[in-house]
Amino acid sequence: IDSTKKLSFTRCIRDGDLVIVYERYDNMKAIKVCDGSVLENRFGVFKHSDWVGKQFGSKVFSNKGGFVYLLAPTPELWTLVLSHRTQILYIADISFVIMFLEIVPGCLVLESGTGSGSLTTSLARAVAPKGHVYTFDFHEQRAVSAREDFEKTGLSNLVTVGVRDIQGEGFPDELSGMADSVFLDLPQPWLAIPSAGKMLKQDGILCSFSPCIEQVERTSETMRSSFTDIRTFEILLRTYEVREGKLDDFQGDEAGSLGSLPRKRRQRSNEGSNVQESTGPPTVMARPCSEAKGHTGYLTFARLKCLS
Ligand code: SAM
Repeated sequence: IDSTKKLSFTRCIRDGDLVIVYERYDNMKAIKVCDGSVLENRFGVFKHSDWVGKQFGSKVFSNKGGFVYLLAPTPELWTLVLSHRTQILYIADISFVIMFLEIVPGCLVLESGTGSGSLTTSLARAVAPKGHVYTFDFHEQRAVSAREDFEKTGLSNLVTVGVRDIQGEGFPDELSGMADSVFLDLPQPWLAIPSAGKMLKQDGILCSFSPCIEQVERTSETMRSSFTDIRTFEILLRTYEVREGKLDDFQGDEAGSLGSLPRKRRQRSNEGSNVQESTGPPTVMARPCSEAKGHTGYLTFARLKCLS
C-alpha cells in the first residue's frame, strides 16, 4: 500500500519506500530504502542505491554475489515482520475474520485492542480506499507505536488510533450506529458488547477473539440479548508440502515420509488422498506437513438483531 494510496505494487521501488527484505521463508525484515545506506548480512553488503528503480519482487545482489529478494510490504508480510508488542493475530485468523465480518471497500470498522496492529493492517487494506478503521487501545505507548507503524506502511489515512478503555467506557458515542462491523480482542470482551451493539448499523456484525472457551461462553451469553446467528470457530492451519518430480525422485526421503514407503504400501496409502502417482512424466505430489499449527483462539461472530 503505497504513499499514493494505490493498493498496487506494480510501480518501481523509490527512495524512502518500505520493503520486505526476504532471505528465506523464515527470515525476513522490513527496511526503509535510504539512498546512501547499506544492508549487511551473511551474504555480503547490499547498497540501497542499487534497489531504487527495481520492481518489487526483484532479486538483488551483494558485493559478494549473495542475493535477497525485495518484496512489497503487503499486510500478509507485515504481520510476519512487525515488532511484537503484544500477542498478535496471524493471517489464517485474519482472513477468516475479514470474510465473516463481510468487510469490503468503503466499510467503517471498529476494533479494540489495537495491540501490535497486525489485524488493523489487513482491516485497513480491506476497507480501502474510502472506508475507515477506528482502533482503540488503553495502552498509550502501544497506540503511539501503532500510529508510527501505520505511517510507515502508508495506512495512516485509513486508520485512526484512539487511546481509550473500551471495557470501561465503551466506544465513543459519536460513532454510534455508524459501524459495519466491530472486532474485539480484549481480556473481558463481554464488558464491551453492549457498546459494540450501539455502534453497529442495523444488520452489522460483531466478532470477538478469545483464547479460552470459558471466555467464549461468557461472551456468547452476553451477546444473546441483542445479537443473533452466534457462531464460534477455531481455525487450525494444516499446510501441505507440494513437490514436483518423478516418483522415483521421492524415494529415499526422510524416514516416515511418503517417498520412503515401499511402492505397494505407497499405492494403498494414496487411495482416497490427493497424492497422484505416475512413473512417466513429472507429477505433482502433495502431503500434509508433519508440523500442524496449533490453537490460537476462538472467533465468535454474531449479527445485531433487527429492531422490528
Ligand atoms: N489483535 C491485535 C493484533 O493483531 O495485533 C492484538 C491485540 S492484544 C492481544 C490486546 C490489546 O488489548 C492489548 O494491546 C491491550 O493493551 C488492549 N486492551 C486490554 N484491555 C483493554 C481495554 N480495557 N480497553 C482497550 N484496550 C485494551
